[in-house]
Amino acid sequence: MAAMLVREAHLVGLDGEAERVADVRLEGGLIAEVGRRLRSYGEPELDAAGCWLIPGLWDAHVHATQWVRSLGWIDVAGCAGPEQACARIATALAGRPDDGRLITAFGFRATAWPRAGTVAELDAATGARPVVVMSGDAHCGWLNSAALTRLGLPPRTGPLTENDWFAVAAQVNALPEAQPTLAELHAAVARLSARGLVGIVDMEFSDAYLAWPRRVSDGVRGLRVRASVYPHQLDEVIARGWRTGDALPGGDGLVTMGPLKIISDGSLGTRTAWCCAPYLGMAADDPHPCGAANYDHPTLATLLTRTREAGLAVAVHAIGDRANQVALDVLAEAGVTGSIEHAQLLRREDVARFAALGVTASVQPAHLIDDRDMANRVWADRTDRLFPVRSLLDAGARLALGSDAPVAEPDPWLAIAAAVHRSGDDRPAWHPEESVTPREALAASVDGQRLVPGAPGDLVLLGADPLWQGDSAAETAASLRSMPVRATIVAGRPTYLAMAGGAG
Ligand SMILES: [Zn+2]
Repeated sequence: MAAMLVREAHLVGLDGEAERVADVRLEGGLIAEVGRRLRSYGEPELDAAGCWLIPGLWDAHVHATQWVRSLGWIDVAGCAGPEQACARIATALAGRPDDGRLITAFGFRATAWPRAGTVAELDAATGARPVVVMSGDAHCGWLNSAALTRLGLPPRTGPLTENDWFAVAAQVNALPEAQPTLAELHAAVARLSARGLVGIVDMEFSDAYLAWPRRVSDGVRGLRVRASVYPHQLDEVIARGWRTGDALPGGDGLVTMGPLKIISDGSLGTRTAWCCAPYLGMAADDPHPCGAANYDHPTLATLLTRTREAGLAVAVHAIGDRANQVALDVLAEAGVTGSIEHAQLLRREDVARFAALGVTASVQPAHLIDDRDMANRVWADRTDRLFPVRSLLDAGARLALGSDAPVAEPDPWLAIAAAVHRSGDDRPAWHPEESVTPREALAASVDGQRLVPGAPGDLVLLGADPLWQGDSAAETAASLRSMPVRATIVAGRPTYLAMAGGAG
């Protein structure tokens, strides 16, 4: 079993305690001992050389397959409209060999466009090569005719949104050619390890609970994965008897069953997040001026009751304040444990309910940078209740930070910096009263772990003090974003090492 002795590290106090220098001994994949000048049992030693030591970092919300694939996607972020996106896609296609594989372009913002794209104009730009164009918030998909044919879908004139699109996205993800190659997986996991990540909650739309044990068997061992399941696969997971927290067969202790993921409303980007009040500037004849729910209340309640009975936790996607209110209601009614994913816009009176119900607020702070301008237009009357991270912590809620990759880069330091600074550019912080300290953001990024005997042997050594605060939040955030990671260790085994000398 993996054993290791980390010498002379600065242990970072995540609960307010003072920093101290100590050795940490790992054995059997766990932390066995923490103290000064620990006795050696002949295990490999790693001289921390004055580096700061924290528990391994987690990303509580990743779409892993899509993120790995996204490293090869055509970027249409920032395109002002369908014409520009089509032009960019045509240029990118010209530079790629036609191997018959379905091609994905990613990153446009539906609300920033004066009109939706048409299948006809996408066809004109792409010809016979199958192309799927996905919005940056992943709630809208625009397919050309070749892609519609490839997926066996009837001809149509425009993009798909919400549940119609999610069903197609699941189909796209299930295509054999959509599976990342082993080389792509190794490279992607190495990229996460280099930023200190030891684990992810995988919210992928296809069968993450089958894919990850297979990947571990194939030698991709650098990451712990909590694999979620969606309602369309719930029967299968229940039939297999898998409960949240169970180690999945073939996963070698690295892969466990995660929660049932339910997408209860839409997104800000597509103005489908379900709100108490209408979006500002909506057309008078819009059928859903407040956005909309993806499930009616009884359906949601039935689903959650089944989930509880099956021993599964639940992760409810809720962005709008009405969606969050209803999600908290049904979680309370069904008596099921779990998280609300995003928890982006909250009614003041709902903030305290997270702690009262034991519901984790799983928030992606980097979204506040991306959403700022749009929210200032369509939610200008309620931006003080957006990403209320400070209020949630003050009310005693358990907070878990993540990226929603590929929506944002799965670099935990970007999320931590965004939670601390609440600005991604030279502008002052957006509602600074909701910012948190580096210590609080870090504590929300380690899956509740601490550097104590019995905890998982998941460690990260840093070349700078993660609790350092500059004269301004901007300075602090810049330091966090460029945090030098020196070593990442998962279950007692190094997955990334950038130390002079290494482990010996
Ligand atoms: Zn997501």
